[in-house]
Amino acid sequence: MRNAASWGNAGHIATEQVAPLASMASLRSAWRRRFAAGGALDLPVHGVRTWLPFALRFLAAARPDRFRAGGDALRALLAEALPAWQRAPWAGQLVKTEGHFVIWGDTAQAAAGKAVWLSADIGTARVDDAAPQDIARIRAVIPAPIAGALRFTGTGQISDLDLLAAALENDILQQGGQILRETGTLILEQGQARVPGHEADLVLVTAGVHSKPLVERAGHHAPIVAERGYHIRAVADHWPADLPPIVFEDRSMIVTRYADTVQAASFVELGRPDAPPDPRKWERLEHRVTELGLPMRPPFTRWMGARPTLPDYLPAIGRSRRAANLLYAFGHQHLGLTLAPITAELVAALANETHPHIDLTPFDLERFGGKGGRA
Ligand SMILES: Cc1cc2nc3c(=O)[nH]c(=O)nc-3n(C[C@H](O)[C@H](O)[C@H](O)COP(=O)(O)OP(=O)(O)OC[C@H]3O[C@@H](n4cnc5c(N)ncnc54)[C@H](O)[C@@H]3O)c2cc1C
Repeated sequence: MRNAASWGNAGHIATEQVAPLASMASLRSAWRRRFAAGGALDLPVHGVRTWLPFALRFLAAARPDRFRAGGDALRALLAEALPAWQRAPWAGQLVKTEGHFVIWGDTAQAAAGKAVWLSADIGTARVDDAAPQDIARIRAVIPAPIAGALRFTGTGQISDLDLLAAALENDILQQGGQILRETGTLILEQGQARVPGHEADLVLVTAGVHSKPLVERAGHHAPIVAERGYHIRAVADHWPADLPPIVFEDRSMIVTRYADTVQAASFVELGRPDAPPDPRKWERLEHRVTELGLPMRPPFTRWMGARPTLPDYLPAIGRSRRAANLLYAFGHQHLGLTLAPITAELVAALANETHPHIDLTPFDLERFGGKGGRA
């Protein structure tokens, strides 16, 4: 499905995002980041029954001890993220490794934001002040004032999500696989997971935000929320093809050049995946692009997709302890593109019953208990 989160994200291989978003820092900044105040965070009243239980679990997961443990778990996965992408046979065409930029328009926010990044644990990524030639490249496309800029290395970008989808589907077919585009369901029969209508030795649930009802049928609890994000895209006739993604941190927006298009993305709207999109978010993106004078001209295409997020901002990757033939890999929140190949390698190890080379204990779904769940 092309409206799945994987086909509209910002394309950023975000190896620097070691700190789980379930943190005291996120809590402290939440009020400032709210949509009504011009920020990216929206907790719509109509979605309160969905996001309130999530928020309560988030509070527990943000405790300093759990935050530290979550960071250790994410650091181990993220250290392998870019190498795993580079092992793909088509990496030379689709995986760019020129890093990314983070910039600010406001002087005070630039000073504060830079201080945070320059002292943060960013795993295998590296960060420094952007060099004068980098700033010149940015100024060539952004006429608005730039108060500060950082250059990250050791991060990456997928050059085009549609080409990536085509390459992945081709890999499956080349290896004798078959692609059936159906909505599957799951039942538990004599301790084994089954997908009615299909014979399978193993069942892997990797259905993004829709994974919840599937694993719940096997007795798991998956307190997932849809963290909905929005993008607009325009034909990339004036955006340099070699300019890495730019995060406009004080505007909570990331701009990515793809093969033929340039995309601006933002927003964290917690709620149901199937609630209608909120057009005010696209309008704000369009306004931001115009206000900054970015070379992105209408007509814009508009897209909304749901990040699958668990309250501790760690994915669920593992073999079920409730159905021995059931594997799962979902809940990758803001890092699903980044972590896709390393997750696939870990799932392959589980499927082949070899020992995964990363400890999967922190990603065990049992951390949420069984049906009904615990904090
Ligand atoms: C605006 C935005 C920007 C983002 N930017 C980045 C980024 O720069 N870098 C990054 O790493 N991550 C980013 N993300 C997050 C990333 O996109 C997600 O974490 C990732 O796409 C989740 O992948 P997934 O395969 O788990 O879920 P999805 O991409 O949602 O895919 C789930 C698939 O399961 C299928 N499915 C669902 N139910 C069933 C069923 N019952 N039977 C069969 N199939 C089913 C769906 O059709 C879909 O194809 C961003 C997300 C958003 C919204």
